[in-house]
Amino acid sequence: MDARLEAIRDTVLARNPGEGEFHQAVTEVFESLGPVHDRHPEFLEGAVLERLCEPERQIIFRVPWVDDAGTFQINRGFRVEFSSALGPFKGGLRFHPSVNLGIVKFLGFEQIFKNALTGMPIGGGKGGSDFDPRGRSDAEIMRFCQSFMTELYRHIGEYTDVPAGDIGVGGREIGYLFGQYKRITNRYESGVLTGKGISWGGSLVRPEATGYGTVIFTEEMLKTRGQSFDGQRVVVSGSGNVAINAIAKAQSLGATVVACSDSSGYVVDEAGIDVELLRQIKEVERGRLKDYEARRSAVSYVEGGSVWDIDATVALPCATQNELDGDAAARLVRNGLLAVGEGANMPSTPEAVAVFQEARILFGPGKAANAGGVATSALEMQQNASRDSWTFAHTEERLTEIMIGIHDRCAATADEYGDPGNYVLGANIGGFVKVADAMLAQGLI
Ligand code: GLU
Repeated sequence: MDARLEAIRDTVLARNPGEGEFHQAVTEVFESLGPVHDRHPEFLEGAVLERLCEPERQIIFRVPWVDDAGTFQINRGFRVEFSSALGPFKGGLRFHPSVNLGIVKFLGFEQIFKNALTGMPIGGGKGGSDFDPRGRSDAEIMRFCQSFMTELYRHIGEYTDVPAGDIGVGGREIGYLFGQYKRITNRYESGVLTGKGISWGGSLVRPEATGYGTVIFTEEMLKTRGQSFDGQRVVVSGSGNVAINAIAKAQSLGATVVACSDSSGYVVDEAGIDVELLRQIKEVERGRLKDYEARRSAVSYVEGGSVWDIDATVALPCATQNELDGDAAARLVRNGLLAVGEGANMPSTPEAVAVFQEARILFGPGKAANAGGVATSALEMQQNASRDSWTFAHTEERLTEIMIGIHDRCAATADEYGDPGNYVLGANIGGFVKVADAMLAQGLI
């Protein structure tokens, strides 16, 4: 890392002790930015990095609610408003027991650059709670969401901060959150949240967008080597919204997705995952992946273990951060891996990324490859602002254009900085320069 940047990075780490994932995300971005500061000394004089690493505002709050047994429950809520240089803070809410300030900050920090890469007018933020939705009834989810919004509402707004979903937050939760926001504020402010239901202000393609976008981005990377998804053997981790739609899109392009996972294990289905069955189990029944095995022939379910033990030519990690380590990466590379498209945020460890880069594997980092979700959220905001709703075909076309645009910008930036094919460099520099220019133009704030 460039010595000037290393000094800034060390201060950030010392100032934010115990936030391991945030440290990792900051370090990863800083490692790409040395050459930018050689060309743009004004970014150093303007303290752009010091400012970017200090969120504009961080909110931590108590979320009290009553479970079905009548027991009082207390969770912690977060919203970290990182950067509004390019637009209102924008980013999802994650409900998962692992959520803490360091995780919300890593996600919010990544979101700044991801959102910049989309070319849409959105800043970066993230939030969530350590609430565990697993096994909770609809009524419990509703009471939790209502309590969460009873504090959050005062901090958000269509011109201020626009949350959406992430792990554990989908259409059902956005519905309860929106209902409570409307009730408290007495405003039908569609643009305050994205990922809404289609009949009340949501956008077609938003549910599919992250998974589809990841596959579109990866297809663009494959094209640079004269390849495509057609005939590839794909392994996807996860089986939530991002994974399911990545599987559907990859298979529509002629790939065979042979395995996917959840936190308990993975399934191997050499004939190709039956997406409709997977949707039924995970989205309709809210069941576990284990149920897939009994309902389809010639499938094996492996309890525990890692889905990365299964060979693939294309790997799409769509579960969570740091799920693919250096050993798994080395094994995949030895067994014929061509490309990795990150559907999740920071799913590859730094060691795994180093292995992929060393082997010149096509590697699409999450902040570029999974930007289709938030980009389509920005399309939802456009539709809300104009009180319009677009067709599926039109919205999908916009998503495809945006993903190709992100790919091409990352590739062109990597070329410009002398490291062709390095999408990590391209994404970090491409996103950063856009935000840095806007920050300098807007003065010291
Ligand atoms: N949580 C998603 C992400 O990581 C989407 C955020 C949004 O739509 O605002 O980008």
